[in-house]
Amino acid sequence: MTRDPRYDILFEPLRIGPVTARNRFYQVPHCNGMGYRDASALAAMRGMKAEGGWAVVCTEMVEIHAASDVAPYIELRNWDDQDIPTLARIAEKIHDHQSLAGLELSHSGYTSVNLYSRETPIAPMAMNASSYHFDPVHARAMDKQDIRDLRKIHRAAALRGKKAGYDLIYVYAGHGLGIFQQFLSRATNNRGDEYGGSLENRARLLREVIEDTKDAVGDTCAVPVRIAMSEFLGKDGLEPREVEDAIAMMAELPDLWDLSLSAWPKDSQTSRFSEEGFQEPYIKGVKKLTSKPVVGVGRYTSPDAMVRVIRQGIMDMIGAARPSIADPYLPKKIEEGRLDDIRECIGCNICVTGDYTKTPIRCTQNPSMGEEWRKGWHPERMRKKEKDAQILIIGAGPAGLEAGRALGQRGYQVTIADSAREAGGRVARECRLPGLSAWGRVRDWRLLQIGKMANVSLYLESDLNADTALEFGADHIVCATGAHWRRDGAGHHQFMPVTVDASIEVLTPDDLMSGKRPGSKEAVIFDDDHYYMASVLAELLVKDGIKVTYVTPATVAAAYTVNTMEQKLIQARLIERGVTIIAGQALSGVAADGLVTSCIYTGREYRHETASIVLVTSRRPEEALYRALKDRGAPVTAIGDAWAPAAIVHAVYAGRRFAEEFQARPRGILEVPFRREMIALSAN
Ligand code: ADP
Ligand code: SF4
Repeated sequence: MTRDPRYDILFEPLRIGPVTARNRFYQVPHCNGMGYRDASALAAMRGMKAEGGWAVVCTEMVEIHAASDVAPYIELRNWDDQDIPTLARIAEKIHDHQSLAGLELSHSGYTSVNLYSRETPIAPMAMNASSYHFDPVHARAMDKQDIRDLRKIHRAAALRGKKAGYDLIYVYAGHGLGIFQQFLSRATNNRGDEYGGSLENRARLLREVIEDTKDAVGDTCAVPVRIAMSEFLGKDGLEPREVEDAIAMMAELPDLWDLSLSAWPKDSQTSRFSEEGFQEPYIKGVKKLTSKPVVGVGRYTSPDAMVRVIRQGIMDMIGAARPSIADPYLPKKIEEGRLDDIRECIGCNICVTGDYTKTPIRCTQNPSMGEEWRKGWHPERMRKKEKDAQILIIGAGPAGLEAGRALGQRGYQVTIADSAREAGGRVARECRLPGLSAWGRVRDWRLLQIGKMANVSLYLESDLNADTALEFGADHIVCATGAHWRRDGAGHHQFMPVTVDASIEVLTPDDLMSGKRPGSKEAVIFDDDHYYMASVLAELLVKDGIKVTYVTPATVAAAYTVNTMEQKLIQARLIERGVTIIAGQALSGVAADGLVTSCIYTGREYRHETASIVLVTSRRPEEALYRALKDRGAPVTAIGDAWAPAAIVHAVYAGRRFAEEFQARPRGILEVPFRREMIALSAN
């Protein structure tokens, strides 16, 4: 297949200072939870983006000095020459595929709490050194010597970056993390000297460092500036108009302007809260200020939208983090005219949880993300089957569909059977909930791929039991039968079931997703699950005119979603929808007239009178069929929620893993199931 000429513009080369990008696909810097600890894995991941056609592939933020340490977060380090081989390995992997390697130098100012190095944090002004953990540490106001030192440090890091082979070397003023943004913003700069006050003064350090960097490496490296267009603080912080004024003042200084929003949660908004292209209103004024290339992001997965933003003069290159994570081959697929093969990002921010939990990046749509090096998984290719086999998969949820797709790709004969009328399992149900429609892409992409495979067939409305499953005569049976929400209150906080009075209406998420609604006009939702489900159900019930009280043992609503950067938005939405939020209450029982809870601090008991209760606590694996088949000696494996309930990302991963490991060399329990990077011990 060849590319549709309407997308030609996306494949026009573009000069960026002294270097040239071969097309308009630009993987902007993004964190990944691997950093210096998993350098080879990180290099392979970045190399995969280059292989898939991204003309520019950048690192995440890279600490430029021991005193710019963002521990416990695991990013890359460029502290001294010892870091050059790690940085070089990443650049090499990117160069292997003729892409340009970008290095995002970063000093995080007041967000460099220096927990690892124990150096004193610095900032434009004296203030709390602030991380997500409220560390009891202050940043010192930088004096002139500190400013001179910072410029020296940045210059030295840029030179190391050049030595390591990078083609683009950033000056970072974004996400509230780059110290040059902290100087630029009056929210973090109250200086009385020539680095504070007027916009020109606040922009002085940024200008000086752009000039330093150009001077140090600009002969062979492009110098992009990543800048925050808004801090969402109104007049107290950066707003697009003021940032545009700053850009106008330095318009031709850098080689490229890379635009973003601050802080990170505003930049990487989920599909529950924003649409593709959500940043356009903030960035559309920049191109007319500069002749230099402009890059912007906005979760673009549609080539038509990409063409539109270039033609409308909003940006020159399509920046992407998440779309490149969900599909490293996105550019190649557009180039080859394989649009329906694009694995579109669903905007769930599970990728972000890797960075937040300091563990390697993972992706709901792309199970190979983060596993390129340590497991040798490829986003597009799998090894061919070892020998013929027929496989029956029971359950067409994310686990079953991915297993079926991947086994089909390997060349096996696969039958997928599901009792439901439609495929997709939990995804089919959940994508009908408020704000989650994009999640249907998990099912849609897999169904489309399976539809192209003659060796994979899908049978719906096929409720199998052990007898009917065995009648297939498959060489192997995979139970991907999912899980069901519990009705007995067992959850994260309360492991054991509580006493539930049979006379009160108790509903589960499964009930609500299958259309049931509370019998009364008010309901209490108890959330001991802490991810999205309870908050989404609260929205659903409010939409249906039901007054909702949300009770949780956590201190905030949807506590886990701190890791997807949605928590504040969720809490705000619940407040705005009139939901009463009661935090810090553990479940004691369900009485005839309502919920009984106890304060997690004092143990004092409370009663929440209501006629309807929705328990969102935990799920039970649907494993009866697996057990029955196992008891009969069948070759059977349970995967996904049927094995142990978890998020959709885990189910997709489990499907892929089964397909990867099927007929592979058996691995002993004592063997670590992946490669890992070992630290080279010093001589003593
Ligand atoms: P996962 O997240 O692990 O993929 P899901 O709950 O999304 O799990 O999907 C499980 C699927 O399995 C559902 O679509 C359900 O209809 C199907 N299923 C469960 N038990 C059977 C069975 N005995 N026969 C056929 N399909 C089943
Ligand atoms: Fe997109 Fe979710 Fe994958 Fe992140 S984890 S890239 S948001 S699909």
